[in-house]
Amino acid sequence: MTVEEFRKQLETPYAWPGGYAIIGITSDGGMICIDCMVKEKENIEDSIKTETNDGWRIVSFDNSSNLDSLEGELTLCDHCSEPIE
Ligand SMILES: [Zn+2]
Repeated sequence: MTVEEFRKQLETPYAWPGGYAIIGITSDGGMICIDCMVKEKENIEDSIKTETNDGWRIVSFDNSSNLDSLEGELTLCDHCSEPIE
């Protein structure tokens, strides 16, 4: 993941088709919702650039259709604790 790839993905925050929300996967296995990625853009870009594993280094993207959460169990963003849907 490069800063350029990260920026490009932020421009298309929803996976198509389906309109599923994009999720950022961090180097420590955390998940960050698109709202937080937009809000914390500078933090994330800095961590990608400097390869700092501080919880902000996004290493890949996924989308909410791939979440294998059980029925009734929501996956929460590791930053804002809001459910990812
Ligand atoms: Zn969040």
